[in-house]
Amino acid sequence: MTCKSALALLEPYIDGELDAAHAAEVQRHLDECQACALAHRRLARLSTDLRTLAPRYAAPEELRSRIMQRVGRQPVEIPRRRAITSWAIAATVLLAISAGWNAMQLQSRKNGGDAVAQEIVSSHVRSLIGDHLLDVPSTDQHNVKPWFNGRLDYAPDVKDFAAEGFTLVGGRVDYLDHRPVAALVYKRRQHVINLFVWPAASKLSAPDAVSGFNLVVWNQAGMEYCAISDLNEAELRQFGDLYRK
Ligand SMILES: [Zn+2]
Repeated sequence: MTCKSALALLEPYIDGELDAAHAAEVQRHLDECQACALAHRRLARLSTDLRTLAPRYAAPEELRSRIMQRVGRQPVEIPRRRAITSWAIAATVLLAISAGWNAMQLQSRKNGGDAVAQEIVSSHVRSLIGDHLLDVPSTDQHNVKPWFNGRLDYAPDVKDFAAEGFTLVGGRVDYLDHRPVAALVYKRRQHVINLFVWPAASKLSAPDAVSGFNLVVWNQAGMEYCAISDLNEAELRQFGDLYRK
């Protein structure tokens, strides 16, 4: 099984929706592949958190049937007090409620971008404190780029700016915004820069700084780029400008 098909099956795997043969194949892949095992642990933790930590509210009947229509299911009678077992639906409901609430509050926050920005910060921090900064340690862009073949369904553009003081040190597959993404890792002096790259039609509206980290975001040729680091804003912008050229 390839990483791509394993990652595509992670959610149904965690939800116990796969038949025994597929579940065994995924399990075998997770035993052998660190990157997918990491994605699995993160997703499983999110699933558990949603089940245990997120507050639950009974959705009004009308909202529930609208959501069910959107996800392409006929509304079925759910007995009162029965827990919603699919965390994906629970997440959808939570997002719908939170989006509606924020709209009512007329908040100026850009919710989608903020949520992804928070995920980016979490991934960045985990990569720094954990043992998972790099799946492919290499300063050679010609090694890093082909490494993503078969692990992602797109080919990230990998550049090196060692001459300008931004040294490529490698890459890994990370999990952001409900999909596996490329994380390219650079160093500027002692500072680590994670550059996340994934296909997207328009630029993510993320803040310039989150939780003490600077973010530089751009969209180019149908790809979203988000650089994050504790590096100062000016130098991180310089990195973004070099990349965009
Ligand atoms: Zn894998």
